[in-house]
Amino acid sequence: MMNSNEIESEIPEKCPKCGSKLEERTGKYGKFIGCSNFPQCRYTYDLSEQIKILCPKCGKKLKIRRGRYGKFLSCSGYPECKFTFNPEFSDQEQLFCPDCGKALIINTGKDGKFVGCTDFPKCKFTFDLRD
Ligand SMILES: [Zn+2]
Ligand SMILES: [Zn+2]
Ligand SMILES: [Zn+2]
Repeated sequence: MMNSNEIESEIPEKCPKCGSKLEERTGKYGKFIGCSNFPQCRYTYDLSEQIKILCPKCGKKLKIRRGRYGKFLSCSGYPECKFTFNPEFSDQEQLFCPDCGKALIINTGKDGKFVGCTDFPKCKFTFDLRD
C-alpha cells in the first residue's frame, strides 16, 4: 500500500524547469502548483489531475486525462503501463475504492457520470467524470 507521504513526494519541491521555488495557487479550475518565477517560467503542476485510485495493473496512481469523448483515467506509470479506464466502455477492469477497498461503480447522475463506491452511503468516496 502507498501512504500519503509517498503521494506528496511526487510533487516536485523545486521547479524542474528553472529551479525556482514552487507555490500553491488557486486558479479557475482549482488548486495547482505554479513556479514563483511566473510569468518568465510557466511550469505548473496540476493538483486536480491527481486522484487516489490506484492502477489495478501496477499499483501506481491513476491520472485524469481528457480525450475526445470526455474524461478518462490513465496510469501515471505510462508509458511503462498502458492501463486506461474509459467510463464510456462497459467492459473495463474493476477499480477499487481508495478509502475502503470496495469495488467502484459508474453511476449516472442528473449532471452526468460519476464514479461511486459500492459501500455508499457508508463510504462517501466519489469521483466526478463530468467536464
Ligand atoms: Zn520555473
Ligand atoms: Zn499502471
Ligand atoms: Zn469506499
